[in-house]
Amino acid sequence: MVWNEKIECAPRGEMQALQSERLRDTVERVYHNNLGYRRKMQEAGLVPADIRDVNDLHKLPFTTKSDLRDGYPFGMFAVPMSEIVRLHASSGTTGKPTVVGYTRKDLNTWAEVVTRSLCMAGAHRNDVVQVAYGYGLFTGGLGLHYGTENLGAAVIPISGGNTEKQIMLMQDFGSTIIACTPSYALHLGEVMREMGVAPESLKLRVGIFGAEPWSQNMRLEIENKLKIKAIDIYGLSEIIGPGVSCECEFQDGLHVNEDHFIPEIVDPETLEPLPEGSIGELVFTTITKEGIPIIRYRTRDLTRLNYAKCRCGRTLVRMEKCMGRSDDMLIIRGVNVFPSQIESVLLDMSETEPHYLLIVEREGNLDTLKLMVEVQEQFFSDEIRQLQALRMKITHKLQSTLGISVDVKLVEPKTIERTAGKAKRVIDNRKI
Ligand SMILES: [Zn+2]
Repeated sequence: MVWNEKIECAPRGEMQALQSERLRDTVERVYHNNLGYRRKMQEAGLVPADIRDVNDLHKLPFTTKSDLRDGYPFGMFAVPMSEIVRLHASSGTTGKPTVVGYTRKDLNTWAEVVTRSLCMAGAHRNDVVQVAYGYGLFTGGLGLHYGTENLGAAVIPISGGNTEKQIMLMQDFGSTIIACTPSYALHLGEVMREMGVAPESLKLRVGIFGAEPWSQNMRLEIENKLKIKAIDIYGLSEIIGPGVSCECEFQDGLHVNEDHFIPEIVDPETLEPLPEGSIGELVFTTITKEGIPIIRYRTRDLTRLNYAKCRCGRTLVRMEKCMGRSDDMLIIRGVNVFPSQIESVLLDMSETEPHYLLIVEREGNLDTLKLMVEVQEQFFSDEIRQLQALRMKITHKLQSTLGISVDVKLVEPKTIERTAGKAKRVIDNRKI
């Protein structure tokens, strides 16, 4: 079911006209109601009248996470506190969190985009939705909660944790949809097995997973373990929370609710907008938000956009599943290389393990990229010729994906050091 067909299936021209109108209104509002935005626009030599339509979007200055931190707590708000009815905050790894505020209208918008997302995932009003995202300052729990109620489905506000109870309620309440982080979904699957609960015995049909990046392989694993369809939902509190975009049943990119949030793709280095289909950093501009309107927010997430109409009938632009963070980008001989691109090549091959290390060196004036990758036990034979063939295969695949040559070295399983936390994938020995 398409929740809002008029918008979600609108012809491109109509969508652009709507975006242009809303963008003009947003720019006008932030210029007059927020000192920080006005200063930034003045520094760029801009007045609201310079932004006539979506094609002028690139003229506006960017907003970053540090702008929100510097404005802590309410410096980015564009309405008086009397208009704010809800506050959320995302925890920073250091120091103060970033705070966002919602007006009544913002909460209605949020519920609308989450309801659309639920419908994209295949939900309907007869569903029982178990929301296992955390409730609280984090936007995950309450975001999914009000979207579910708005749809007319039943919500179980269990929040995160308490895994055995989650599984008990799945059995007793007949949950048909689970919403949580993908890593928690895998954990649920493992505990189910330990408890001797067969996933087939549950009514669970769909999982709506987000709040952390996850690969295609992880999707297959979750779908297999829980016997459900695993749908990717995307959002960030700075933009609204979950519901900025979501996959439909075809799992071929996430439909962006672009009548509220305009996406752009820019080069993370030059910050220039990139042509359609290029991989780059995702940037969002909110065009209906009142509490904390955000102009050209740099998400640091890497993806690309696809404006082709989807098989589901929606015309909402699709963003590819995020491929990593621009903070991780390497520039090798002038080419932008993302470790996640290399990882996806390796994950496509059955002979390698997803354990690898990238080493960047500078020899003379030339940067070189070396990849050490573990080969699966059964392929690490003594047959030099076979290993040589595998090495060539990886080299060719990387060359065609990245556009630069990579020196590939195959190593035995368990050669590359394991860490408990975030894996270290890159060693940059260049002295620049
Ligand atoms: Zn679709």
